[in-house]
Amino acid sequence: MGGQGDAVTGRRGDAVGQDTRPFSASTRQENIDWLASEEFDVLVIGGGITGAGIARDAALRGFRTALVEKGDFAGGTSSRSTRLVHGGIRYLEYGEFRLVFDACSERRVLRQIAPRLVRPLPFLYPVYAGQRPSQAKLRLGLLLYDTLSLFRNAQVHRWLRPQEAQQREPLVAGRGLVGMGRYYDAQVNDARLTLLTARAAHLHGAVVVNHARVVGLMKSGGRVVGAQVVDQVTGQQVEVRARVVVNATGIWVDEVRALDAAARPMVRPTKGIHLVIPRARLDSRHAVIFASPRDRRHMFLIPWGDFALIGTTDTDYQGSLDDPAADRADVEYLLEAARHIFPGAQLRPSDVISTFAGLRPLVAAPGSPSSVSRVHVIVEDDSGLLTITGGKLTTHRLMAAELTDRVQKRLAESFGVQACSGCRTREPLEGAQIERAPVTTPDAAVNRHLAEAYGDEAAWVLAYAEENPALGERIVAGLPYLMAEPLYAVQHEMALTLSDVLIRRTHVIYEAVDGGLARARAVAALLAPRLGWSKAEVERQIGDYTAQVALTRAWRDG
Ligand SMILES: Cc1cc2nc3c(=O)[nH]c(=O)nc-3n(C[C@H](O)[C@H](O)[C@H](O)COP(=O)(O)OP(=O)(O)OC[C@H]3O[C@@H](n4cnc5c(N)ncnc54)[C@H](O)[C@@H]3O)c2cc1C
Repeated sequence: MGGQGDAVTGRRGDAVGQDTRPFSASTRQENIDWLASEEFDVLVIGGGITGAGIARDAALRGFRTALVEKGDFAGGTSSRSTRLVHGGIRYLEYGEFRLVFDACSERRVLRQIAPRLVRPLPFLYPVYAGQRPSQAKLRLGLLLYDTLSLFRNAQVHRWLRPQEAQQREPLVAGRGLVGMGRYYDAQVNDARLTLLTARAAHLHGAVVVNHARVVGLMKSGGRVVGAQVVDQVTGQQVEVRARVVVNATGIWVDEVRALDAAARPMVRPTKGIHLVIPRARLDSRHAVIFASPRDRRHMFLIPWGDFALIGTTDTDYQGSLDDPAADRADVEYLLEAARHIFPGAQLRPSDVISTFAGLRPLVAAPGSPSSVSRVHVIVEDDSGLLTITGGKLTTHRLMAAELTDRVQKRLAESFGVQACSGCRTREPLEGAQIERAPVTTPDAAVNRHLAEAYGDEAAWVLAYAEENPALGERIVAGLPYLMAEPLYAVQHEMALTLSDVLIRRTHVIYEAVDGGLARARAVAALLAPRLGWSKAEVERQIGDYTAQVALTRAWRDG
């Protein structure tokens, strides 16, 4: 059987028990000590969606599980996606029917287990005379998409003739328009899905620690038996012993494998960037898929609250893995395409509030970046280190199940450790259900935001504001985030830095015109006593955050 509990701390008393401690910064502190004090069945390195998904799956099966993340949950690629849970209609072009089928099934599963975070989104796919795809090809593709969804999507597709299409989406260029395909995918707050998945792992007994970097792998008899982990806050190093070690570090998998032995690189990172534009400048009611006039690559316009996202690019990347940024050429490429399809909007560089850039952990293969497959791979090194990379946010649960099946088999065969159950990740994701009670402050924008971000836990956020009305103020005028949210983030979402709060628990960095810099000090002052920051640490936090803001605006300098 997997874990045995620890009566002293009140952690789970049986293998499939719950950890009732809050998912807080102080629980994290206890977990650091915990890491060193027991041998785990499985240690997962990497707190992106893949690692969080594996930790949740393993914990639900009753395995004694640990998860360590060098930065914040979703600090890598998992907070820089197009924020879609989608079947990937354009992969049909490459004949990737299995991938599309799996992704469509997962879209349905994620809608069921996390309906608050994964919401249906209507898409329009305009077709123009003389351009690819032709009407016939798109209509066939949409039919196939519905078929691969087993006709169980939010709605089946429809073909809109030009007049109706233009009524529905007047922004889209009318010249040469043959019609538009209308179909559904879903959108997701990627950082929150990752966070709640990691928190679910914790709830089911996993020992979860962010800001904890693996710097070495422990070996015995040629086998990996654990990892050296450095607490990035205190510098303390702990040795974590584990029967199976899983490397789920996305674009960093080759760095972690290099800690084990020299190995051929698995990952070919490609960069994808997004523009954040005020919705008022591009007020589309649908997501729109369109092609660049330059190279016919496809991209999206995605409505996101009061903003619109335009993306993405897909270019080979050689720079630092830790801080990719959009450059001027990336921004101009996307703006050019957006001006082509939305000519009336006359988008200018000055409309771009911010950008974000992510690196795809694509499995190394020759060919142009856009044609490199989005499938995932699992590799087992001679040392027993299991590495997983590639795939998509959408299919993370399936990837996690496949990997955890491997872990389960190894634990049974090599250690006689049996799972308490099979894969249970089709069960509802805790905290991701549709809220039962509406949020009712006098401010509709705040209500909408709190309900979407926190569901039923919005009441907990508001409780801070009830105690101290200053916490009911907005962090930045015009954005719906409240000063109470940073406190909630520390006490219930394991936020540890100013950047954790302003980049991933909220999206202040992307949505505030100045990236939230004018308010950074006020938020840092609020966090300082809760996180024990000295004056020097406050300055360091503000400095780190300022550097992050600069990255999201770096394209302006060239
Ligand atoms: C531009 C772009 C758009 C995308 N859009 C979509 C989309 O709309 N829908 C979709 O389904 N997919 C999308 N994807 C793909 C999806 O985002 C990724 O497949 C997914 O986020 C990868 O998650 P991951 O956990 O494998 O990697 P990551 O999220 O990068 O997580 C790996 C983690 O490992 C940690 N780590 C690294 N080294 C160490 C160490 N030594 N010790 C501890 N931790 C370590 C990192 O800090 C990081 O947090 C997109 C990707 C990009 C780049």
